[in-house]
Amino acid sequence: MKIPQLMTPGPTAISKRVLDASAKPITNPDLDPQFYEYFKEVTNKLRTLYKTTGEVIVMSGEAILGLEAACASFIEPGDRVLCMDNGIFGNGFGDFAKMYGAEVVYFKGDYRNAIDVKALEAFLKEDAHFKLATLVHCETPSGITNPVDHICPLLHQYGILSIVDSVSALGGEPLETDLWHMDVVIGGTQKCLSAAPGLTLMSLSDQAVSQLKTRVTPYPGFYTNLSLYLDWYENKWFPYTQPISAIYQLEAAIDVILEEPLYLEKHAQMAKAIRHAFSSSGFELYPQTGHANTVTAVMVPTDIEFKTLFNTLLNHHNIMIAGSLGELNGKVFRIGHMGEGCQKETLLTCLEAMDTIIQAQIPSVSPILADAFKSYR
Ligand SMILES: *Cc1c(COP(=O)(O)O)cnc(C)c1O
Repeated sequence: MKIPQLMTPGPTAISKRVLDASAKPITNPDLDPQFYEYFKEVTNKLRTLYKTTGEVIVMSGEAILGLEAACASFIEPGDRVLCMDNGIFGNGFGDFAKMYGAEVVYFKGDYRNAIDVKALEAFLKEDAHFKLATLVHCETPSGITNPVDHICPLLHQYGILSIVDSVSALGGEPLETDLWHMDVVIGGTQKCLSAAPGLTLMSLSDQAVSQLKTRVTPYPGFYTNLSLYLDWYENKWFPYTQPISAIYQLEAAIDVILEEPLYLEKHAQMAKAIRHAFSSSGFELYPQTGHANTVTAVMVPTDIEFKTLFNTLLNHHNIMIAGSLGELNGKVFRIGHMGEGCQKETLLTCLEAMDTIIQAQIPSVSPILADAFKSYR
């Protein structure tokens, strides 16, 4: 394989330091007491990243496992679930909830805008009889970050448990799990953490833990039963063999973030520069509000086909960007600038390549993306 420069909004490129971490020798994680101490340290680092003193869980499976496990564990048949839907992942979360027997009510938002907190307030005044709510922190397919800092405290006021998909935000967007009363926050390794795809990360508030422990109906499964992940340190027992090499890698990836005090500021700054480059060059950004710090979604210009752009970038420049999903397929292209992708040099190379392609396709346009990006401050 010829590995391209990944500018996709996950998976992101992995640094040598993080790659090397997973190549260390392993012990038997079930039997070796040292592993329990080691894993405790890793979970404490994860708590620092999440800004929580609550429980954190690491599951062996890509982040979709986390979304499904949260639905499997918290939803009992007949529960009313509020699904916040202003994007593809938000809507899909409702489908998971239904699979586990929830009665799903949608709070529909505009797909080009962040969730409107005032409208949500008005909605909840009429009907707040929900056990839990599902929502997405960053809608990766549309590049929109929702105001979880306002939404989750509001849900908390109404006693509604919040289950937040923060897979493409954790590590790249501000996140205050405890301060914002976020009950369940799901993350993954392949986005802003820039480690290999394969782990689900999750935080659980005290309220979330007590809901797990007071579930009335039997759990529908084993692998997705979150209550089995809670007392591993006390009991010196895991529900299954821990993915130790991936955990080594996770630790290194968290270290990279925690060692750099301006990590989030860098993401915010780079995102602004990218948006400036596109909007000042005549492109239309897909989001109208809620522009994400981790991914930028741009409308494909009328005189270029997405396929041409994608293939030329890949075949002639060895750079991979992403299209989008569902309705946005072919209409929107996306550049990820999270984790290892949040580097000025690689973003500049990508924009220079786009300039070349655009000029070849539309000679009347002067190539200005890279210049606009460079000159932004
Ligand atoms: C990436 C991502 C996931 C995990 O899904 P995959 O596409 O299978 O990696 C879940 N939610 C969001 C918002 C994501 O960006």
